[in-house]
Amino acid sequence: MKNLLGGKGANLAEMCLLGLPVPAGLTITTECCTDYYANNCQLPASLMDDVWKGMKDVEKNMGMKYGDAENPLLLSARSGSRSSMPGMMDTVLNIGLCSATLPGIIKKTENPRFVYDSYRRLIMMYADVVMEKAEGLDKGIRRQLDEMFDEFKHAKGYKSDTELSADDLKTVAEQFKAKVKEVMGVEFPDDAKEQLVGAIKAVFKSWNGRKAVSYRRIEGIPDDWGTAVNVQAMVFGNMGDTSATGVAFTRDPAVGTNIFYGEWLINAQGEDVVAGIRTPNPLNDDTKNEQNKHLPSLQEQMPNIYKELDDIRTNLEREFTDMLDIEFTIQEGKLYMLQCRVGKRTGTAALNMAMDMLKEKLIDEKTAVMRVEPAQLDELLHPICDPKIEATAKLLCKGLPAGPGAAVGKVVFTSEDAVEWTRRGEKVLLVRKETNPEDVDGMRVSDGILTSLGGMTSHAALVARGWGKCCIVGAGVLDVHEDKKVAYVKGTDMVIKEGDVLTLNGTKGHAYEGALALMESSENPRFQEFMSMVDKFRTMGVRTNAETAEDAALARSFGAEGIGLFRTEHMFYGKGADQPLFILRKMILSTTNEERLAAINELEPFVKKDMKETLAEMDGLPVTFRLLDPPLHEFAPQTADKQEEIAKVLGIPVAEVARRVDALHEINPMMGHRGVRLGITYPAITEMQVRAMFEATAELLKEGKSPKPEIMVHVTIGGRELTITKASVDKIYDEVCAKFGVKIDYLYGTMIEIPRACFLSDRIAKTAQFFSFGTNDLTQMTYGFSRDDASTFLPDYIDKKILDSDPFQTIDPKGVGELITMSCERGRKTNPNLKIGICGEQGGDPKSVEFCYLNGLTYVSCSPYRVPIARLSAAHAAIKHGKK
Ligand code: ADP
Ligand code: MG
Ligand code: MG
Repeated sequence: MKNLLGGKGANLAEMCLLGLPVPAGLTITTECCTDYYANNCQLPASLMDDVWKGMKDVEKNMGMKYGDAENPLLLSARSGSRSSMPGMMDTVLNIGLCSATLPGIIKKTENPRFVYDSYRRLIMMYADVVMEKAEGLDKGIRRQLDEMFDEFKHAKGYKSDTELSADDLKTVAEQFKAKVKEVMGVEFPDDAKEQLVGAIKAVFKSWNGRKAVSYRRIEGIPDDWGTAVNVQAMVFGNMGDTSATGVAFTRDPAVGTNIFYGEWLINAQGEDVVAGIRTPNPLNDDTKNEQNKHLPSLQEQMPNIYKELDDIRTNLEREFTDMLDIEFTIQEGKLYMLQCRVGKRTGTAALNMAMDMLKEKLIDEKTAVMRVEPAQLDELLHPICDPKIEATAKLLCKGLPAGPGAAVGKVVFTSEDAVEWTRRGEKVLLVRKETNPEDVDGMRVSDGILTSLGGMTSHAALVARGWGKCCIVGAGVLDVHEDKKVAYVKGTDMVIKEGDVLTLNGTKGHAYEGALALMESSENPRFQEFMSMVDKFRTMGVRTNAETAEDAALARSFGAEGIGLFRTEHMFYGKGADQPLFILRKMILSTTNEERLAAINELEPFVKKDMKETLAEMDGLPVTFRLLDPPLHEFAPQTADKQEEIAKVLGIPVAEVARRVDALHEINPMMGHRGVRLGITYPAITEMQVRAMFEATAELLKEGKSPKPEIMVHVTIGGRELTITKASVDKIYDEVCAKFGVKIDYLYGTMIEIPRACFLSDRIAKTAQFFSFGTNDLTQMTYGFSRDDASTFLPDYIDKKILDSDPFQTIDPKGVGELITMSCERGRKTNPNLKIGICGEQGGDPKSVEFCYLNGLTYVSCSPYRVPIARLSAAHAAIKHGKK
């Protein structure tokens, strides 16, 4: 249904079936939109005939006639695609107002003010959407009309739109039409039929509008879905003080609490609420806050209608078994439902609602697990302001808490600046009066968003919430001048300039000067409960990439079931690395076997200590140790003083050290003397590591522990390197077992990261007991893209649609993925018990986890913070695709 009718159309139909008060209408399918584009932007031949036919029913239902002089029906043409794209496409309201229908409707409503208000809105919207945007023009008619309107109000001394009289609005409408003629070069169409045809085309066109395309790119929505058009009878929230318009959520979308949450405006139409033009009234007591508590709520002002709406809320939740976002309009005391859709929510809200609805028996466990998107977990694990430090911080302003968590960054005032500054590696906060759909790119890259206008349902709040981004809206004390790139805090001497560092607490709605310390969001018991439910559905293992006992412990607390990648060389970075690094340098600069052996032996206790601590931390769970992979050039001492130090110890001249460093220089180190190649040339290096690992294991066994080590040989190109290395491993194994009098269980396997190894997987699996796909290098080698340099051209590849996504983030199913699938098949043919994992960055990416599941992988391994995301992704894959 949704695919054809779009989300809005399908849900309008659903609400009709439930007997809810929905203005009559018809839906033109998304297929017509694809036809329209396939046909060089021509409406399908029979479409308008069908529309006029369908209109007969709408007219009958509403008791009015479109284009009629006595009793004219007015229409809206509303966009609506399969997947919700809030505010990204266009809608035209009040269609059908023209000289033939104006007198009739004035006579009927006896409300000329309302009629001319609707008329000037039609001219404004139509000129912008149909005459300008849909024609691909850029004349800024909307802005020009807005300015005319402001000047008119100014000249008359009016502050609010509601002060304009019927005559004023009539004059404005005439002036608007003249301006449209002047700027656009054509008359505003004075014919009802022509207006509808134009509006339908314009909605189709808005599918390819700039902001819609940009939004689709971010959300991964295919370009060929197209939009439906809902042609619907108008109802009016701007008919006077018993009329109103509003939006609401059936639960709080920011934290998930089961309260009815919304905003409304008296005597207003359409998008006035979302646009943040006036501060909207609270729907009820539950939605009152500092900014709106002085305004009457719907509950107070129109108790009967509120009751009706609240019943609809319950009814809809029961029907859709989810939180919904609804739009309604009240015309002279009668309630109409204009839209409902599953509401966007923060990660916190998603989790809370899933657990609440499970308890309410609205949904089952499987559904609850599917209700939280893996990416949303990220946000639950996101940092928050350290409350102790926050208590003493200098408060800049307060607003509404529209998106949770904390963010620290430099202030920028435009979407373009946000994009540009983040390209340079800055963290930014976007500060604006309000945001509109043109700002999505900048909002996306910003760490936080702060606006001075708008309520909890404003554009900024809606979009930020969808992305789980820290956001504060409606910080009324801010006086933002985007053009001058400053904001003043009213009533104080505080000024915010571009580049100033601020901290936002989106959970509270507070903004502070300077960078406050952030801390990890505290352990949420509901999160734990949810994750154990997730594991009931998960079948694939999840491990972590870690090389310190600290990281291992953290990952274990996040539910890691072992270590899939321990990079031995990480002991040479960071704290406590000086001594081992110095010894390593001696090792790589050695020219004789004796020198080298001495250095290797000296290094062994360091390696052993690291391995033992990690094995102990992961007691009972497997730990995959990858053999040393030192990029020799990186570790060779480059500075004069370091070279001197080594020269002294080795008892050779500095010039000799410099010569040896030179000799180590590689033109292309990524493809140089690394990985297993090093052990092939110098077996003693491998033997030292294997001995360290077996001895650490033996000692732990003696201490009554259950270590489960795995040796991973990497950068292999085929089976031979593995058999040669295995001979060394066997030799050391026998020595250590004899020395300690223990028997050690371990696995021997390889990292697959060279395309050739994928082809030779059947032979490799003769020796290897497990494979682990090193998808960082495998992607690099398959594409011939250097990981470290690809950022200069990858964005162009994605813009120009050469690639759908960054293959270093999401496994490329076509190339790299095919190699993995083939490697799995070939490996398993030789060894049906082969354990297969993945340990590249992609191991924590939801789409890649799904790919791994479909290939029957034993586990995925990712960084500690991504472990919960991988667990949930694996559960989603199992629920979606069934047993593998
Ligand atoms: P969006 O997809 O951007 O939310 P909509 O099609 O929902 O766009 O239209 C925006 C607003 O226009 C609605 O929230 C509603 O207030 C108003 N609107 C649309 N159709 C009608 C109608 N038939 N009667 C009254 N108001 C309408
Ligand atoms: Mg809407
Ligand atoms: Mg590698």
